[in-house]
Amino acid sequence: MREREEPKGFISWVAAKDRKTYKGCPVAPDRVKVYFNLQKDCLSVIDAETGLLYCHSHRVELHNAKFRVQEAGRQRVIREKRKNVHAYIIGDWHNEGEVSKTRFRKRGEIIEEYRICECEDDYCEKCVPESGEEFRGGYYNPYKYKTFVDDIEKTPIFKSERVVVRDKTAVGPHYNIFYTPKKKK
Ligand SMILES: [Zn+2]
Repeated sequence: MREREEPKGFISWVAAKDRKTYKGCPVAPDRVKVYFNLQKDCLSVIDAETGLLYCHSHRVELHNAKFRVQEAGRQRVIREKRKNVHAYIIGDWHNEGEVSKTRFRKRGEIIEEYRICECEDDYCEKCVPESGEEFRGGYYNPYKYKTFVDDIEKTPIFKSERVVVRDKTAVGPHYNIFYTPKKKK
């Protein structure tokens, strides 16, 4: 598990300030943009509605996601040979945080923690969904591709029902982007 210090200026999900309310209650954004934060070496989560930073993260699960590359930004990377933020994944915010074997649920007025799987020292597909066989790896290299691409087949990825994005320091397999490809009919 993660033991190093958080980078300077890291705003955790817990520390993120609510910027919207729904029926009087503060809520987190529904739809977010996630990109790799190169300075802090983590993920930045942007509220897609307001365009404001919501929090930083090491692992985010998005549903109903789209992969976007802004071509002008990509051209600038090629020209200047310097990284800039022009590629991101936008989706419905489903889950955030380290891989965990437990979840929380509401029982009446009580919030209780419960285990989602029985695996012991290791991890399984329940506690690390992105290790499941329905997931494939993806990545983005502005010098080689105009889009995010599948790790192995190098085919473009434009959207996915379910995506897990992780920074380099998260536990488990080394890929940063896991996605479920569209089912073949
Ligand atoms: Zn497990």
